Amino acid sequence: MPADLPERLLHYIGGEHVASADGATFEVLDPTSNETYLHAAAGQAADVDRAVAAAQRAFDEGPWPRMLPRERSRVLHRVADIVESRDARLAELESFDSGLPITQALGQARRAAENFRFFADLVVAQTDDAFKVPGRQLNYVNRKPIGVAGLITPWNTPFMLESWKLGPALATGNTVVLKPAEFTPLSASLWAGIFEEAGVPAGVFNLVHGLGEEAGDALVKHPGVPLISFTGESRTGQLIFANAAPHLKGLSMELGGKSPAVVFADADLDAAIDATIFGVFSLNGERCTAGSRILVQRGIYDEFVERFAAQATRVVVGPPHDERTEVGALVHPEHYAKVMGYIEVGRTEARLVAGGGCPDGFPTGNYVAPTVFVDVPADARIFQEEIFGPVVAITPFDTDDEALALANGVRYGLAAYIWTNDLTRAHTFAQAVESGMVWLNSNNVRDLRTPFGGVKASGLGHEGGYRSVDFYTHQQAVHISLGSAHHPTFGKGH
Ligand code: NAD
Repeated sequence: MPADLPERLLHYIGGEHVASADGATFEVLDPTSNETYLHAAAGQAADVDRAVAAAQRAFDEGPWPRMLPRERSRVLHRVADIVESRDARLAELESFDSGLPITQALGQARRAAENFRFFADLVVAQTDDAFKVPGRQLNYVNRKPIGVAGLITPWNTPFMLESWKLGPALATGNTVVLKPAEFTPLSASLWAGIFEEAGVPAGVFNLVHGLGEEAGDALVKHPGVPLISFTGESRTGQLIFANAAPHLKGLSMELGGKSPAVVFADADLDAAIDATIFGVFSLNGERCTAGSRILVQRGIYDEFVERFAAQATRVVVGPPHDERTEVGALVHPEHYAKVMGYIEVGRTEARLVAGGGCPDGFPTGNYVAPTVFVDVPADARIFQEEIFGPVVAITPFDTDDEALALANGVRYGLAAYIWTNDLTRAHTFAQAVESGMVWLNSNNVRDLRTPFGGVKASGLGHEGGYRSVDFYTHQQAVHISLGSAHHPTFGKGH
């Protein structure tokens, strides 16, 4: 267990650490033992009200929205500096709280710092066009922060995903209320100290811990919160969409996935196997963009399956804090039960060639061996539904058309991975596949300027680069006449 763990976590509202108005708390579990190691304040509507009021005050009266982008940028670079200087501690706590392998948690902490730097720079570089019609008019865009942004985040890579929303929301001058996931509240509580030290004024960042159906629901329904950025399950997204509708809130939704990795017979097989193994088992398989369905062309199917299964059994499952660990413990016993349930369903739907449950040597905790099902039919539940654990479904195909029908034959459309050395095929397939993002012969790497988001049940809207800046700002068009010569007249006769 990491040293100096807090015993309880409080909300952070208006620059102060406070308990819930009614004193309620919830338990947070250690995923390697499922024992309670912490109690966190369980926010209710009254706590959300308090946090929104503090954020509104900071927005209406405080310096943050009025600072020049350059000034805010300097503060947010300090945030990144502090995150970087504490990356080892952040990774230790994140790994402990979420069950993520420590080396991968370290990468996520560094990425969080990078997110802050990126958006801090982007708002300074942002130039809105001005359009001039010579001698007649000038038009320009007045970009304004919207107000109190509600940020609701999931438990997978929690600190990094919070930074993905906090960075652009704050860089553009909004104030925020963050409601982090109840399974992993620990790293979210570190933001308060980081922002204080960096010089973010009190009230700009507010944090309300709590359950989704209580604190999250209250934030979504709060009339003083004009926009919600949500990352989580598609089902929750639908509910939030409905609850936000009466207020016509701005919404950004990054939702679930069941992304295909399509491996054609002409692909570089070594690279494809390494990348698809990493793509589905890294981050414990608790990754929205996991390539959790692998479609393999018949000519190489048997070889692919044999090599993939052999390599999957060599993936190191172990305690999250161990640097050799490649797959740690799943986040929570509820989630573990869900993943195990899918493995049982899979046994009735397809052929199991690797894994299939808890590996030997782990009497406690949420450990799952990398699990490989092959010959999975397209109507199987393990082909259609997001499992969000280290479980993969492999399916053969013959033609490009068949691969496309399989790839598109699910309700999700977040990512797609294509492995082929045929340039025309790669681009033709990329255009036809129903996904927000496509990787060609490539791992899950991405420049932060590109859009991130999904289609179909995987999301609504895109974040990333200027799309995030657009989401978190009003773009008010200002039109100025440069002379009176062209004013139309009414009611003056001829
Ligand atoms: P979840 O939907 O259960 O919870 C996400 C957040 O929403 C949590 O903070 C939760 O407390 C809150 N919440 C739950 N019910 C709510 C309600 N009624 N009103 C308001 N808030 C509510 O998701 P999860 O299990 O925490 O996360 C895993 C899911 O997130 C997976 O489906 C995964 O694919 C998805 N995800 C998507 C992306 C992406 O960018 N597309 C990234 C990471 C995770």
